[in-house]
Amino acid sequence: MKKEVRTRFAPSPTGYMHIGNLRSAIFEYLVAKINNGKFILRIEDTDQSRKVEGAVDVIYSTLAKIGLSHDEGPDVGGAFGPYVQSERKDIYLPYAQQLVESGDAYYCFCSKRRLDSLRDKADKENVQYKYDRYCFHLSQAEIQDKLDSGSNYVIRQKVPDRGTTTYNDEVYGNITFNNQTLEDQILIKSDGFPTYNFANVIDDHTMEISHVVRGSEYLSSTPKFIQLYKAFGWKVPIFVHLPLVVKNDGSKISKRNGDAMFDDMINEGYLPEAILNYTVMLGWSPGNEREFFTLKELEKDFTIKGISKSPSTLDYDKLKWVNGEYIRKMSSENFATVAEKWIKKGLNGKNLNIDKIAGMLQKRTDTLGDIPDAIDFLSDVSEINPDLYFHKKMKSDKESAKILFPLIHNVLSSLDSWNHDAIYNSLVEIAAANEMKNGKVMWPLRVALTGKPITPGGAIDVADILGQAESLKRIKSAINQLEGNNG
Ligand code: GLU
Repeated sequence: MKKEVRTRFAPSPTGYMHIGNLRSAIFEYLVAKINNGKFILRIEDTDQSRKVEGAVDVIYSTLAKIGLSHDEGPDVGGAFGPYVQSERKDIYLPYAQQLVESGDAYYCFCSKRRLDSLRDKADKENVQYKYDRYCFHLSQAEIQDKLDSGSNYVIRQKVPDRGTTTYNDEVYGNITFNNQTLEDQILIKSDGFPTYNFANVIDDHTMEISHVVRGSEYLSSTPKFIQLYKAFGWKVPIFVHLPLVVKNDGSKISKRNGDAMFDDMINEGYLPEAILNYTVMLGWSPGNEREFFTLKELEKDFTIKGISKSPSTLDYDKLKWVNGEYIRKMSSENFATVAEKWIKKGLNGKNLNIDKIAGMLQKRTDTLGDIPDAIDFLSDVSEINPDLYFHKKMKSDKESAKILFPLIHNVLSSLDSWNHDAIYNSLVEIAAANEMKNGKVMWPLRVALTGKPITPGGAIDVADILGQAESLKRIKSAINQLEGNNG
């Protein structure tokens, strides 16, 4: 029987998820789903000094917003728990001791001072630092003595001195490292916690993970992991390393710089579905021109084969475009619901019809975060720059506006019912009666109502939203301003 595919997302709880972390989660999830397998969440918190309060909640909420539900994990349980490494602390030491027994690991009692001086020496000689195996050569009696006297120790992996380590990566192909370049890395730290390098191997094995999907920054540590699997006599999982995500200038996105954080994207008004779609395309291609995928579709159509080796560049313009396309595809009700919070922010306490505003915005909005500034004129219109009345194509200028405003005010004030069609028809009548293009009438009205050269809707939309009284008030005020400004 074919073994079940089991993948894991194994974030360290640092309080943030950038788009690279998110991509690992999505690809892990999809590799499980395309194989009808299980997706597991494991929290890698062995570095206690980097612990951040509330960080695990950020992970849960991000996965939930994107729609990646895990089959096993700290909050949902499962047969391979606990799923938090700090709760598994006691599992690791016996495994490390097993390796000490078999000669694949050893106790190291070296002080920080000694290690620092080795590092300094390597720096001075301009060579790559490598632990010098001093403690590997201690006698059994010396080791026992130190352990009995309670000396601080770490357990180090003993990597082979000679030969090479080769492994196959589903994306990068066969990778070979010279064993001499590998370091006797620490497996168990002096605080008794395992290092990530040890814990990930023990956990991936004991949790029966079949595919390890993670960033390519782990490609070079993987030979040491392979040596651990070998030492235990365990089957090596399938490795799927993902290409780097870089910024426009070619530099890596980093947590430290706060680059491309998922929460920031949500706060700037990107939709989770659009972020998901965009993120999947960072380093994956379906092999054709198709650009839009829902999570459900990806659960069938995703392929490991489509993952690329070369770094993918984070392109906010593209993300914005994808987001705009998602906004356009939403039902108007749905858009009004997600946009409401942003519209209210732009309205600044003014009470206007949210659905109508959403209707005006949906066609012209790329990110929800653009909404407040785009509609700020609805709450208040500032002093109008008379130059705005000039529009070559509409054949509009200050003089034509001055002539048309009284007519516009007149027809609009006589309307009994205030709605889009009624407003439109009355303005078109003015244009027809004066043998001019509609735009010549619409343009100055739009300027009077908004005070802006660019608005997310035309004069009719805005008048309809503002209501009759406010629209007439703004036209009056525009007339007064023009009269006071004869220059
Ligand atoms: N805890 C590691 C990280 O957050 C996980 C690496 C892996 O998937 O093995 O980068």
